[in-house]
Amino acid sequence: MNSLKIGILSIQGDIEENASAVKKSLLELETEGQIIHLKNTSGIEGLHGLVIPGGESTVMGILLSLQKIHLNLLVRKISEGLPVLGTCAGLILMANKAHDKTLGETKQQLLQVLDVTVERNAFGRQRESFEADLEIPMLGQEPFKGVFIRGPVITEVGKNVQILTRFENKIVAVKQDNIMATSFHPELASDNRFHNKFLSTCIKYYKSKEIGQDGLKS
Ligand code: GLN
Repeated sequence: MNSLKIGILSIQGDIEENASAVKKSLLELETEGQIIHLKNTSGIEGLHGLVIPGGESTVMGILLSLQKIHLNLLVRKISEGLPVLGTCAGLILMANKAHDKTLGETKQQLLQVLDVTVERNAFGRQRESFEADLEIPMLGQEPFKGVFIRGPVITEVGKNVQILTRFENKIVAVKQDNIMATSFHPELASDNRFHNKFLSTCIKYYKSKEIGQDGLKS
């Protein structure tokens, strides 16, 4: 049996923070698994989940688009059901459409797997970073501390997109089938509930891959 493999897109951004959060989830969910740092997407076959971290979505898009074949593979795997967690720049990269609050249209490379429109840098610059308690029913009653660093807001959602939470009436976390995406950085909160939820989706996906149609292990 293959072991659970969780990829972190490791082109740029807060890669180690996400790796630590996934490791913590593996412990908390008492699951064995390994973390794979993807420098490009050639290692994506065989993964059971993928984190696209925060950072700079334009840079990630440029570096990914230099490898067109791999970019297409990434889009295909996500569209076929690979569980993904995108935080901040990761949300932007997956969106259908993005524009910058001050610069307007940036024509950046997007994966367009998540049916949302985002406004980048909607809360201002780095020095305007903040934390806020968010009500996220999917995670239980206890509020979740959202860490916002040059975060985007979601201005439009398609009909298949579930809104997970809002901050000041603006949409800041969503779920669409196998994709979860946040404007904030759950990997920087001491609370691991977001990554735990993601990991439990990966475990389900892993089990569905390990057990063939006839119920026998393939
Ligand atoms: N503002 C960044 C972007 O547009 C995202 C910031 C972040 O990931 N913290 O890509």
